Amino acid sequence: MSRFFSHKFDRLTPYTPGEQPQDKQYIKLNTNESPFPPSEKAQTAAAEAAARLQLYPDPTCKELREKLAALYGVGPEEVILTNGSDEVLNFAFMAWCDDTRPALFPDITYGFYKVFAELYSLPYTTCPLAEDFSVRIEDYMGCHKTVFLANPNAPTGLALSVAQVEEIVKSNPDSIVVIDEAYVDFGGESCVPLIRQYDNLLVTGTFSKSRSMAGARLGFGFACPALIQDLETLRYSTNPYNINRMTMAAGLGQLADEDTTRANCRTVMENRTYTAEKLTAMGFTVIPSCTNFLFASHPAITGKDLYLKLKDRGVLVRHFDTPRLTAYNRITIGSREQMDALLAATQAILEE
Ligand code: PMP
Repeated sequence: MSRFFSHKFDRLTPYTPGEQPQDKQYIKLNTNESPFPPSEKAQTAAAEAAARLQLYPDPTCKELREKLAALYGVGPEEVILTNGSDEVLNFAFMAWCDDTRPALFPDITYGFYKVFAELYSLPYTTCPLAEDFSVRIEDYMGCHKTVFLANPNAPTGLALSVAQVEEIVKSNPDSIVVIDEAYVDFGGESCVPLIRQYDNLLVTGTFSKSRSMAGARLGFGFACPALIQDLETLRYSTNPYNINRMTMAAGLGQLADEDTTRANCRTVMENRTYTAEKLTAMGFTVIPSCTNFLFASHPAITGKDLYLKLKDRGVLVRHFDTPRLTAYNRITIGSREQMDALLAATQAILEE
């Protein structure tokens, strides 16, 4: 840290992205990316847009916003587009948390929530997940705090039903509830329709997982127009050109190929069932997942040991070095070949 760094950030611990080691070719099952490339339509559209990079992109993202709104059955004024869903979450912390409205989220969830709270020196509290890693909805009912819930949750993979989320939203009419649906397309139930009924709900999503565009950075939020306006004020006050031309074009191309997106999600879900069954047969405890990853532990080996030994064998999974998660690893669901490589390496490690 330089001697010029603002004291505001003295105690800030930044988010740690999943590792991307360059020493050899790994089977990457540590950042929940899609094993499939984006649609050909997305690739072609991005290449065409590259020829016009001398021009700024449309700051209103009109066409993409309209297409996304139509796909989700809401109005274009109920959508914001952002540079990954991390950016819309960032805006939500900025917009709706302060000394009178602390943030509230589970103790085990997406690590960025804590980083955003600390970045803005916001008061925040965490609620422990239940013993089985489920979210205890009673902890969030009538809480007078700004609630952040990943649904499905990460890294557990467990989801609340729309009815459960609605109970939380309904019980907090004077507080905002943010539902982060980064993984919803792999078997969760989307809460987007609820934004028409509740003026205190933001639902966020991403093109990074089911739509195979993690490298393009495209996220979105759905809420009533007044909430979207709050977020737009912050977007225009930070970076009105947050979606670059190539990403915007790729997003449109990807949305023109929803059948492929759905088929890819089905393949991931099949590979998830296959992998969960094999891991269970090897003695793993596998948390039931409605995401593109599994969260699993084995009685004979610590999470860290398994992670390190898999890395030695060229397979990367994600280990979280926190007390309640020491036994576990988060394993992204990839192609069948990638899953077979993971399973073979795991079997060999257990037999050592
Ligand atoms: N929410 C959750 C729960 C995530 O796991 C991630 C991915 N790391 C994100 C949001 C952000 O994803 P992106 O910025 O790529 O949309």
